[in-house]
Amino acid sequence: MKSELWNVMAASLMLVSSISAAQDRFADVEISVTPLSGSAYMLQGAGGNIGVSAGEDGVLIIDDQFAPLAPKISAALGKLSSDSPSYVINTHYHGDHTGSNAFFHEHKGATIFAHENVRVRLANDDKVSPAALPVVTYAQGIKIHFNNETLHVFHLPTGHTDGDSVVWFEEANVLHSGDLFFNERFPYIDLASGGSVEGYIASVEKILTKIDADTQIIPGHGPLATKADYESFLAMIKATKKYVDGQKTAGMSVDEVVEQGLPEEWAQWSWNFITEERWIKTLYE
Ligand SMILES: [Zn+2]
Ligand SMILES: [Zn+2]
Repeated sequence: MKSELWNVMAASLMLVSSISAAQDRFADVEISVTPLSGSAYMLQGAGGNIGVSAGEDGVLIIDDQFAPLAPKISAALGKLSSDSPSYVINTHYHGDHTGSNAFFHEHKGATIFAHENVRVRLANDDKVSPAALPVVTYAQGIKIHFNNETLHVFHLPTGHTDGDSVVWFEEANVLHSGDLFFNERFPYIDLASGGSVEGYIASVEKILTKIDADTQIIPGHGPLATKADYESFLAMIKATKKYVDGQKTAGMSVDEVVEQGLPEEWAQWSWNFITEERWIKTLYE
């Protein structure tokens, strides 16, 4: 009898916890901190990876994940230097990279920087608060001098979106690639927001000319990476594109290519967001 009651209680506790998990899918997310060279760190939680410069000048962050995570991100930054970043740079407009903009601007006084198309796209979204909009925008790029570091922020056209930037820490030799790199995964290319497969390839090729074997790369998604990882990612895109282009030229429909699938060697790049099917459709289009 006692154990039956215990089972009922345990079952109802599990039910309660699964309901609250559904209500807040970010409740259990923890922010991990990886120290890199110099003043640079990588933070990971849910959504795009965050780059950080933390030191005597304070804190600058690159991307800020989803709004419900803002207090946790802020707390993690506080352990490095200050929980109020002076600057936020957005690598592009997607919500998994800009979701905490309003929190850091409104409550923590951060100035938000991004390519001008990021501001336009966020401003056109009714769900985005005006406090989340980038305050300083640029067409080509900017340099920021902070924590004895030169941060080169530069724009690359028509890749993942039409407002992509990457950030290179010159002294630390750390690169934040934004979503121009999904390490070990098929990339998302936002064709509806000015992205293109050819442009994505061209952007990755250009970035690869600017980094070396010692560069630590914070990818938009996936684990910390090296230039060799980035080269494997580019090789995967080129090989799968060539394969799908070949099937298309041979007269196969997109459904037929999906049905047949990619050669087995590319299977492990598939993940819950960009499955093999979705990647084939992106390449076919
Ligand atoms: Zn992303
Ligand atoms: Zn994105």
